[in-house]
Amino acid sequence: MFEAIPSPYLVPFDGSFQRRRMPTRPPGGSGSKKALKRELAGYVEQLDELQRVLYAHDRYSILLVFQAMDAAGKDGTIRAVMSGLNPAGCQVYSFKQPSSEELEHDFLWRTARRLPERGRIGVFNRSYYEEVLVVRVHPEYLENQHLPRPLNRKGIWKQRFRSILDHEHHLARNGTVILKFWLNVSREEQKRRFLSRLDEPQKNWKFSSSDVRERGWWDDYMKAYEKALRATSRPWAPWYAIPADDKPYMRVQVAKILTDTLNSLDLHYPRVDEKERARFDEMRRLLEQE
Ligand code: ATP
Ligand code: MG
Repeated sequence: MFEAIPSPYLVPFDGSFQRRRMPTRPPGGSGSKKALKRELAGYVEQLDELQRVLYAHDRYSILLVFQAMDAAGKDGTIRAVMSGLNPAGCQVYSFKQPSSEELEHDFLWRTARRLPERGRIGVFNRSYYEEVLVVRVHPEYLENQHLPRPLNRKGIWKQRFRSILDHEHHLARNGTVILKFWLNVSREEQKRRFLSRLDEPQKNWKFSSSDVRERGWWDDYMKAYEKALRATSRPWAPWYAIPADDKPYMRVQVAKILTDTLNSLDLHYPRVDEKERARFDEMRRLLEQE
């Protein structure tokens, strides 16, 4: 089974994660934009080749989970990291408020239907983690979920962590390599980004007053994130808490972790055995005789 590659942003597996200890800015300062762009391009180029081998190898699938507060830069990061890849080998899904059909099922159903096939890279822009994040911050959402009564309001989050851990372990044993990214943006930086959405006409469309309302629950969200990351980071399904206040830096970190992970998998093109090689010779003869 796949094991997490080391990184300063890897969330420990023993429950000792402390959000406050994790930087939201690059620890060594921002660095030159040009150099970061070049570094990102280098990873994207490697990823293009790695994706081809992943597809031919046909044993693993990659699942990238992105969670973050609004305006942390999920969309831009997904775009930047996946930009060089063959679209046929990638599947990106965004999960919003659940539909009435989705609410008629258990909370892992809608994402389970969107898991990547072997050889593919699947991206979840938000995920089943919303069920222990936004729903934990707004427990009244549980009322719409048609859950059996009596509802165990105290124990439900632990139960959900258990379900998630079991689900991810099952997927990992069956060849899904799960990497989870929390884009860790600071409250001040989110405010700056919301203000620039109001100030700059090309960004107006991104502004949403409900995002500003959600911001009012910032501390509750941070507590929910901390608990979720503590409970669910595992060697086979690690969380990475990526500093998100500097977008170019953040994108490089995500691309690097993905590239290093794919490199660690020992992917290779399927090997042709003796018997098959003999058949190739025969086919070559046939073609040449035409
Ligand atoms: P963007 O704003 O960049 O388009 P987004 O992911 O924020 O992307 P929105 O449509 O703005 O998309 O918001 C989706 C909302 O759906 C989020 O507030 C999220 O918390 C909420 N959501 C996602 N999953 C669930 C869930 N299972 N239960 C309740 N709310 C959910
Ligand atoms: Mg939004």
